[in-house]
Amino acid sequence: MKPFAYTSDPVRVIFGRGTIDHVAGEVRRLGCGRALVLSTPQQKSEATDLARRLGALAAGTFHDATMHTPTDVTERAVALAREVQADCTVALGGGSTTGLGKAIALRTDLPQIVIPTTYAGSEATAIIGETKDGVKVTQRTLKVLPEVIVYDVDLNMTLPPMLTATSGMNAIAHAVEALYAQDQNPVTSLMADEGIRALARALPVIVADPQNVDARTDALYGAWLCGTCLNAVGMALHHKLCHTLGGSFDLPHAEVHTVVIPHATEFNAAAAPEAMRRIAAALGASDAAQGLFELSQRLGAPTSLSQLGMKAEAIDKAADLAVKSPYWNPRPIDRESIRHLIGNAFHGRRPGA
Ligand code: NAD
Repeated sequence: MKPFAYTSDPVRVIFGRGTIDHVAGEVRRLGCGRALVLSTPQQKSEATDLARRLGALAAGTFHDATMHTPTDVTERAVALAREVQADCTVALGGGSTTGLGKAIALRTDLPQIVIPTTYAGSEATAIIGETKDGVKVTQRTLKVLPEVIVYDVDLNMTLPPMLTATSGMNAIAHAVEALYAQDQNPVTSLMADEGIRALARALPVIVADPQNVDARTDALYGAWLCGTCLNAVGMALHHKLCHTLGGSFDLPHAEVHTVVIPHATEFNAAAAPEAMRRIAAALGASDAAQGLFELSQRLGAPTSLSQLGMKAEAIDKAADLAVKSPYWNPRPIDRESIRHLIGNAFHGRRPGA
């Protein structure tokens, strides 16, 4: 075994069904009594219901969380938090709502309870991306790490099958890159194996039978493990490419991850054979990249960037942007190979075509 360093960040995790009943106790446990409840407009009724359950522990609600954490929305939420004298936030939703809670914490140090309803994994990370004037800037700081995560399987039952598929592939992508990370370690790799295995088993069942509680439980468990991987080790080509594609061409987050992950995996295959062996084993496939592509196909998820609205003229610009700032990747990155990768992803070809 190679020498390694492993850091585990302090997060309290509550997992199960009906765990929303624990939120009031968790607010008190933090020594708080005035929670600001956050959601997107689409999840307003769930957030209002949560505020009602919290009773006097809820100081207010804010329902305007938006994808990519625009700073103008954050400023409105911070103003409300100050006005109602909130002493913590409770974010109920996917990565967009979690992102808002983190952005408030960055500015106010308010402790956060997060109730994730997708598989994006943001709840487990000390990473925040914020968008100002169309530019998304990401930073890592423990100021944004949520104090408590409440995983409630029941709240995930409503995640529509296609969002379940793409959000699940988004989570798997964290574990794939963790297995070939420069700072990989045996503990994170165990979580990555188990996260991929749980999601690969659960997602096809959920797409066929969205109310299957066992599969929903497995998927949420897998998502937690994959989110923990995202926080614990550095990501490489796949995450950088998705950040560029999503940010520069306004493509949807989980869908871009779904399309790109088989191609990024194929790109790195020869340079990371042990990671490929583990990914394939966790997928129950003979090849990691092909196994990921086939899983997406089986889920009926998008397999091409053109399906997501990207234009063919953007391929060259995307390749230019992708090689602009250097970063570590198991296989060195050059413009021609990246242009080929993006072309394959654009057209929905099999990885390695
Ligand atoms: P999202 O939070 O934008 O959710 C997508 C839509 O689904 C929203 O309308 C939401 O209200 C709805 N939804 C969520 N859960 C639902 C449920 N159970 N039932 C019905 N509808 C539901 O999407 P996402 O993919 O979770 O998050 C994407 C954002 O998170 C991006 O901005 C991305 O950059 C960020 N993110 C950040 C990190 C990090 O570590 N900082 C990690 C992953 C993602």
